[in-house]
This record gives sequence, C-alpha cells and structure tokens, in this order.
Amino acid sequence: MAIRWAKKIDSLSESMTVAVSDRARELQQRGVKVVNLGGGDPDFDTPPHIVEAAVSALNQGLTHYVASKGIPELRKAITAKFQRENHVAYDPDTEVIVTASGKLALYMSLAAIIEPGDEVLYFDPAWVSYEPMIRMLDGIPAGVPLRPEDNFTLHGDVLKSRITPRTKAMILNSPNNPTGRVLTRDELNVVARSAQEHGYWVLSDEIYEHIIYDNRQHISLASLPGMHDLTVTLNGMSKAYAMTGWRLGYLGAPASLCEQILKVQQHVVTCAPSFVQAAGVAALQGPQNCVAEMVAEYDRRRRFMTEALNALPGVHCPLPEGAFYLFPQVRHRGMDSNALAKFMIEEAHVAVTPGAAFGKTGTQNIRLTFATSMANLRQAAGQLKAAMG
Ligand code: PMP
Ligand code: GLU
Repeated sequence: MAIRWAKKIDSLSESMTVAVSDRARELQQRGVKVVNLGGGDPDFDTPPHIVEAAVSALNQGLTHYVASKGIPELRKAITAKFQRENHVAYDPDTEVIVTASGKLALYMSLAAIIEPGDEVLYFDPAWVSYEPMIRMLDGIPAGVPLRPEDNFTLHGDVLKSRITPRTKAMILNSPNNPTGRVLTRDELNVVARSAQEHGYWVLSDEIYEHIIYDNRQHISLASLPGMHDLTVTLNGMSKAYAMTGWRLGYLGAPASLCEQILKVQQHVVTCAPSFVQAAGVAALQGPQNCVAEMVAEYDRRRRFMTEALNALPGVHCPLPEGAFYLFPQVRHRGMDSNALAKFMIEEAHVAVTPGAAFGKTGTQNIRLTFATSMANLRQAAGQLKAAMG
C-alpha cells in the first residue's frame, strides 16, 4: 500500500517569504550576485547587551527546561512592557506566555481557539502565514479584501457583511505586513464594536509596533474598552531588536485562554529556549535607544527606496506608514506578480516576493523589504532601472 501524507498539508503552498530568501541565499552561495529584498530580516546585528545576557546565561548554566510559560523575570518584564507601552494590564503569572517565536505564539493561540469549520477573518493583503495556519487547524480562512485606492482602510459595513454564525476569530495586523498600514483608533473601534457585538476573539499581531514613521502612534487593541477579555496580543523580539534567529515571541491573553494555550505549548515545545529568554529580559529592560536608532535608519531607507521605485516606469509605490516593506503596484509588459518576481530575480538579480502570496488584492504588486543596507538598496534600484527602463 502506498504511504500517504496529509492532504491538507499537501495542498498548502510553501511560505513565499521564506522560500524567496532561501532561493536568494542559494544563488548567493553559488556566486550569483543577487540583492535579497525578499524576507523581512533586519540586517542589523542584535544589540551587544542582549547578546551578552544570553552568553552570561549560558555560562551560568541556564541550559535546561524552564517553566513552560516562561521564566518569571521575562514574564514580569513583558507585563511591565505591556503596561508601559501598550496600556494593557496583564497578570505575569496567568496572562502571559513566552513562546519560541511570534509564529508559534499565533499558531498555538489559533490551535486553542479554532474548531473544525470555524471561520477566521483576516484582512487581505495579509502576511503569508495566516491563511495556511488557519487551514492546518481545520478552520476556514475568511479573507476580507481591502482596497488599495482607499489606502486599505477598514470599514464597518464591509466587515459586517463577512460575519457569519461560524465566525470564531479575527487576525489583525498593525503595522501591517505587507502594506505598512497603521490602523487608526477609528478603525480599531470598528473591530472592537464588531468583536463585542458578535462575540469573537481577535488575535492582534503587533510584531512591528516599534517600526513606525512620521510620529504615528501604535494603539493596542486590548487597550480599548471591553477588549482585554477578547484579545490575544501577539508580539516577539524578531523585528524590534533584530533577533529573528533567536526565535523568541510572547503573548498576552485572558487567564482562561492562556490556560488552554499553555497546554498546547507543554505538548508541543515544553518551553521557549531558556538562555534566549535571558536575552529577552535584557531586550525589554535594557536601553531602548537601539530600537530608535534602527527605526531612524529604516526611515531613511524607506524614503530613498520609495522615491527610487516611483521613478521607474509603470510603478506606483505608496510611502509605508510602518513596518519595513514596500508594496508597489507594478505594470510591466503585462506581467502578473509571479511573473514580475521571476523577471526581477532573473533579469535584475533582485529577489522580491510576489504580491499574490499576500492574497487576491496583491496580484499586481510585489513586496520588497528595506531591512537591508543602503548600499544594497542603491544597487537594487540601479539594477531594476537597468532591467525595466
Ligand atoms: N507576524 C508578522 C506579520 C510577520 O511578518 C512575522 C514575520 N517574521 C511574524 C509574525 C513572525 O515573526 P517571528 O516568528 O520571527 O517572531
Ligand atoms: N515575516 C518575514 C516576512 O514576511 C520573514 C519571513 C517569514 O517569517 O514569513 O518576510
């Protein structure tokens, strides 16, 4: 008898953000000079005081399992951070879980919430992993398309038309990957009213909260009246502290839901790596000017690259409000986003992610990250100009 595997996994496509970067790395290893603007991974080194905290923890023997929900020092640091920056009160013992990445924080939360056939709302364009995660857990992805002409604004009537008796949860992401949109208080109020009226969970992915421009303000959904008990606040160290390889994330949620998520964590990974958690304490409690310095540099790159792209024929690139991605619409020789990405890596040697990976709204877009050096961005802009000009 033939050995089989799960159809639902077989039918998933690979993560395009991860696959594009893997492909670019492979080409670079073979000596092809590719500028990688695929996956969003800060080019900065993790700040030294954070690295030193992990080294010191290793030297002190923090190399065993620790409490499944996370070491108490980190849970306290997370709680203080939620209070200070997000104006949300979480109890460090019952309402916070340290996870081995932001991805796992999201996946385990969904695992604790979704039953087969439950619908999970998210706004299209959306980060590539939301839909597959919902599918892996037998939920029904319910993408709500937003309009680029309207700057991807959330409207109450559009949201209302997508609610059904099976709506169990929504995934919200601000600042947004890939569009860079930062949700306003009015838009968050639309979500809060709907979640309270219809009774569903909102998983608020705030991993880009610090990467925000032009004095915009990040508002946490859980800080809105009535939302603490309906929200899972998801975050992680990857983006703000340039710690993608450390795989450290965390979440805040009401105690009753945390109890469920913790069971998933206990069975799936036991705990996040112990010495990495010591680095997390240093990240949250140490000096924060490293974050501001990185954001100031992203801002410079954002302006440079937006201007460079808008100077290309057929390209329309809005200036992103947050995160470190550009999501331009590109009209070039009738190509769709997949053909464009292929053309760009093959002809311009610039790796980008096709917009279609982010949903139906993005089929004429490509996504480029500017979490790379100015020199790389200049080179990419020059090569794109030569290929498309
Ligand atoms: N959410 C969004 C929107 C992301 O872009 C990413 C990408 N890394 C994550 C969550 C997960 O990040 P990590 O697993 O590195 O914490
Ligand atoms: N989140 C980043 C991105 O969207 C990194 C790759 C991934 O984890 O998807 O590019």
